[in-house]
Amino acid sequence: SERAERYNFASGPAMLPKEVLEQIREELPNWRNTGSSVLEQPFTSTAFKQLMVETEADLRTLLTIPDNYRVLFMQGGASAQFGLLPLNLLRSGQSADYLESGHWARKAISEARRHSPVNVIASGTEQAFTALPPLDHWQLDPAAGYCHVTSNETGNGLQLQEFPELSVPLVADMTSDFLTRPLPLERFGLIYASAQKNLGVAGLCIVIIRNDLLRAPPPGLPTAFSYAAQAEQQSRFNTPPTFALYVTGLMLRWMGRNGGVPAMAAAAQQRSRLLYRCVENSDFYLCPQRPADRSPINVCFQLTKPGLTETFLTEAERNGLANLRGHAAIGGIRASLYNPMPLSGVARLVEFMTDFERKHG
Ligand code: PLP
Repeated sequence: SERAERYNFASGPAMLPKEVLEQIREELPNWRNTGSSVLEQPFTSTAFKQLMVETEADLRTLLTIPDNYRVLFMQGGASAQFGLLPLNLLRSGQSADYLESGHWARKAISEARRHSPVNVIASGTEQAFTALPPLDHWQLDPAAGYCHVTSNETGNGLQLQEFPELSVPLVADMTSDFLTRPLPLERFGLIYASAQKNLGVAGLCIVIIRNDLLRAPPPGLPTAFSYAAQAEQQSRFNTPPTFALYVTGLMLRWMGRNGGVPAMAAAAQQRSRLLYRCVENSDFYLCPQRPADRSPINVCFQLTKPGLTETFLTEAERNGLANLRGHAAIGGIRASLYNPMPLSGVARLVEFMTDFERKHG
């Protein structure tokens, strides 16, 4: 059945472009003339191996990934990576540096602490995570195994604008802004991102790792979660999340057809500027985030009059503007504007916000 016109602002799983949904539906019964659905494909079949090769090649082209980096398709989401990073990258007793920038960085830190010593290089706690600690405040340990940052704090609405050149491998959780802006890839040791936001459906986590960081799995680490083992077996040590990989492949091609990463970045700026301007131009809405650190991907704001948030959310939903509730731990309103969100969705939200203020302001 057809769906009604509706914009989905969920933080994830997020909306897919209409044309990608249609392509999935069309191709579902008979994928690539195999006589079966992609859901029924053995991951060892020639057709599926080919899909994995193409998906990696498309990702490499979009992000200009240098040859000395490997692309891994893993399971367990970014949350599993929180624990897998220290297990795979650190030597016994070695510690890691972490930037405490918000909700997701804290999750990454608490998981890492279960396996290794963690040194918090700077924290945004004093500003209640409304600003990012500036680079010159980071207290880096030159002996750290790596330095971890969260490039975009999905719940707090903050984005790291610059990635420093460090003497230790820079590791970034890019789950919510992967493929939304060009990256200086050579500055990173490792990047990881769950797929369910900018590039597909849940179940797949992409890891991009510099070759020299691959090493034999330490005792106690399940082989399926070893970067080296998955790299050696082209991410087919065990069954990869085949459907999520297929959708990711479609999304990468959609991005390629629509101007690639530079065009995604320009669209993200256009969308978020429109929305931040609407918030800034009114005393009815408030965005406490420091302007220079505001995320173009997850726009978080509050209503200044108490007790109106639920009404806002209910009326927005009635107007086809779905899932605008802020992160459970943070509250307020959050509009997640991933790559598939058209500018018309933000224009409609801004129109709604202006009307809502007129009615309730
Ligand atoms: N890191 C960031 C920045 C996120 O936004 C999320 C999910 O919202 C996660 C990690 C967790 O991802 P997953 O649920 O795939 O483990």
